[in-house]
Amino acid sequence: MKLLLPDIVENQLKRELRAAGRREIGGVLLGELVGPGVFRVAEITVQRTGGTSSTFVRIPRLHAEAIRAFFQRTGHRYERFNYLGEWHSHPSYPTRPSGSDLRAMEEILCNAAMAVNFAVLSIVKIPTAASFEISSYAFVPGTRYAEIATISDQTPKREPDWRSAGRAPLDRMEIRRW
Ligand SMILES: [Zn+2]
Repeated sequence: MKLLLPDIVENQLKRELRAAGRREIGGVLLGELVGPGVFRVAEITVQRTGGTSSTFVRIPRLHAEAIRAFFQRTGHRYERFNYLGEWHSHPSYPTRPSGSDLRAMEEILCNAAMAVNFAVLSIVKIPTAASFEISSYAFVPGTRYAEIATISDQTPKREPDWRSAGRAPLDRMEIRRW
């Protein structure tokens, strides 16, 4: 599994991290499936409140509207555009999941209402004003979580037209909820 991070989202994260200082902030990753096991972060939601220097707890109702709007904008094509996972900052700690981060991800996987069969957690920080660090982890029920590659996605806005290649990669994939 790989995560593509568009520079527009990376820049948004940097701005938010700078503004939050030593306080943890976070939100939801909304993704696009772009190939087998490859997801692009399409959008993020941002919750600036509720975090301390060592904890962040996401309050679901603060994100529900943004998630609904994302589904609306992407035409409810859940097999391509869907909830991808969570992100938060570790201004004072390495970008590795804490014990409570692991428990929170377990709860998401077990939450029948969320109906996810995997979830990503990205942890971000700006060690210095000019740098940016992100580590992403995949959580799959019944397996140990694993770090996955996060790749800067600098591609121009215009997508290459896969239709001209004579086949639709997404159409060949089994349609299921992530
Ligand atoms: Zn954490």
